[in-house]
Amino acid sequence: MYLIQNYSRLPVRFVRGEGVYLYDDKGKRYLDLVAGIAVCSLGHSHPKLTEAICSQAKELIHVSNLFENPWQEELAEKLVKEFWTDARVFFCNSGTEANEAAIKLVRKFFRDKGEERYRIITFRNGFHGRTYGSLSATAQEKFHKGFEPVLEGFDYAELNDIDSVKKLLRKDTAAVMLEVIQGEGGVNECEPEFLKELQKLCREEGILLVVDEVQTGIGRTGEFYGYQLYGIEPDVITLAKGLGGGVPVGALIAREEVAGAFTPGSHGSTFGGNALACRAASVVVEEVKKLLPHAREVGEYLRKRLEGLGVGKVKGKGLILGIDYGKDCREVVMKALERGLVINCTAGSVIRLLPPLILEKEHVDEAITSLREVL
Ligand SMILES: *Cc1c(COP(=O)(O)O)cnc(C)c1O
Repeated sequence: MYLIQNYSRLPVRFVRGEGVYLYDDKGKRYLDLVAGIAVCSLGHSHPKLTEAICSQAKELIHVSNLFENPWQEELAEKLVKEFWTDARVFFCNSGTEANEAAIKLVRKFFRDKGEERYRIITFRNGFHGRTYGSLSATAQEKFHKGFEPVLEGFDYAELNDIDSVKKLLRKDTAAVMLEVIQGEGGVNECEPEFLKELQKLCREEGILLVVDEVQTGIGRTGEFYGYQLYGIEPDVITLAKGLGGGVPVGALIAREEVAGAFTPGSHGSTFGGNALACRAASVVVEEVKKLLPHAREVGEYLRKRLEGLGVGKVKGKGLILGIDYGKDCREVVMKALERGLVINCTAGSVIRLLPPLILEKEHVDEAITSLREVL
């Protein structure tokens, strides 16, 4: 009655969660293979995460970025240690904000060098968020509709088509930005060779490579960062979703030289990286690092079992997987929900699975049994 109707919500009220399970207001149990859209990677009510949040809330939740913030420093160090080179981190609260920061940083980096470069090449079916910068970077008309004009300075290429990138290159091109696996767009994987060529092209042309790791980051693919699957070395990556285990936090990591373009006063966020969010994310990062081999193994098992269903091509890596269903999959999601299984349908016809990284093989078996009934 009082909510703006910008979401089409499924008719279920979850009131509690434990591990990979959610419980609704009638006490019914659901196996959760969505994890709040790749957010709750440690599952629900993870003891260490819960403990860290509670203890931090009792001490200090927020002081603003007017003051020193040891929790940010601790978390930034952990994130940079997993990055391929020396880098610095900016904290915000969401994926779209992390991408806004990336877009601004890219432009400022070249302005500071006295180079008139500002255009960013992004890819069809990508998704970068809903605020104007990241919406403009999102090359999907359906998200722009009614909100035009979008921001100037974005050119859209085709994924896995290096020639389409080359055709868009101009002397004012500043960056290429992409997801290594397009999540929202239907779990579309970049080809390793394409990414290698893209990196080479960026280096030859002096263009920055920005990888949106909002969905693929923090262990989702079985690597800590998704780009690590492909051996590329991005200049900037953005994070959010899985970073806080459910506590809102986003981040941008930039190679040292690039990071220098943000100077005092040039960018900011009131809530960004507050004590509570950083304490939570620090626990998530430590736990996810331990879970990587497990995520790879269970991901592989889940992939095989999904392939065994024979309903469509299985795509993705680790625990970001999609099934090309070939037709509208919203009804499948509804029927699965009735059977106590939470799954997602994206890009109209792709069944997307983003389970907690703590998923075990027995849960996979349980999910496959339900999916077989539903399909
Ligand atoms: C979800 C998502 C975003 C937007 O994140 P929000 O936190 O919803 O703003 C950006 N990029 C990618 C790749 C995403 O999956």
